[in-house]
Amino acid sequence: MIASDLRGGVEKLGDMIAEAKVIVPFTGAGISTECGIPDFRSPGGIWTRNRPIPYDEFVASQDARDEAWRRRFAIEPTFAAAKPGRGHRALAALYRAGKIPAVVTQNIDNLHQNSGFAPDHVIELHGNTTYARCIGCGESHGLAWVRERMDATAHAPDCPACGEPVKTATISFGQAMPEDAMRRAAQLAQHCDLFLAIGSSLVVWPAAGFPMLAKNCGAKLVIINNEPTEQDDLADLVIRHDIGETLGPFMGN
Ligand code: NAD
Repeated sequence: MIASDLRGGVEKLGDMIAEAKVIVPFTGAGISTECGIPDFRSPGGIWTRNRPIPYDEFVASQDARDEAWRRRFAIEPTFAAAKPGRGHRALAALYRAGKIPAVVTQNIDNLHQNSGFAPDHVIELHGNTTYARCIGCGESHGLAWVRERMDATAHAPDCPACGEPVKTATISFGQAMPEDAMRRAAQLAQHCDLFLAIGSSLVVWPAAGFPMLAKNCGAKLVIINNEPTEQDDLADLVIRHDIGETLGPFMGN
């Protein structure tokens, strides 16, 4: 059912939240656009400007790694300035109230953690861009260290411990999905009674399979997105409005 207007949608969502015992939110780039981080597919989004660098290319080519890190540092001021938005804060309020055990996210911006979720309760399907990791030994590195090495050598650094390339701790196209995060996300989808798909175009698989999994396991499904998604027909409630406007009323104090 598509909510006829924002107010009706918020009221119905409020009823569903009140009835639910276990709510699992699944968030995409749309929850962070009001924080100043552009999404991928909207006009002006990241993809409309840069072709993504697939994982194999990153591993094989120093030039690709240099370019990937140049792009990463070009968007750093945007990421560093971003604060949790109304959507993040509303979910954090429901988390504090014990209604949300954990959030499943496609986002890489650390804003759920910054809004008050314990790191272990943020299931990151596509990793996190606020730090770096060696693709060989898995050692974590701070972005400041990577920048210092790039400034000194004009090239993306390799890991001092094992010599393999260092990459943002994100999942690139062609890179294996994180098994533990996928397993935990599936468990959460299977054991909730309300699943909220918020600001995801629901086209990036396998992550986009979770709303359907939740629905098939008996949960009610709500989709909040300012554009239609391919999964709207599955949903018990579709709110086709701005996420901050929709979730703002649930921020609490
Ligand atoms: P997407 O860009 O494909 O879709 C975002 C969706 O949110 C779109 O359907 C758009 O219409 C909607 N939207 C944008 N702003 C909105 C608003 N204020 N209110 C309501 N709807 C809004 O994003 P996606 O499906 O999450 O992702 C693809 C990939 O992009 C993910 O893998 C993620 O890792 C990556 N990504 C992450 C960030 C981030 O961490 N903030 C930003 C860009 C891309």
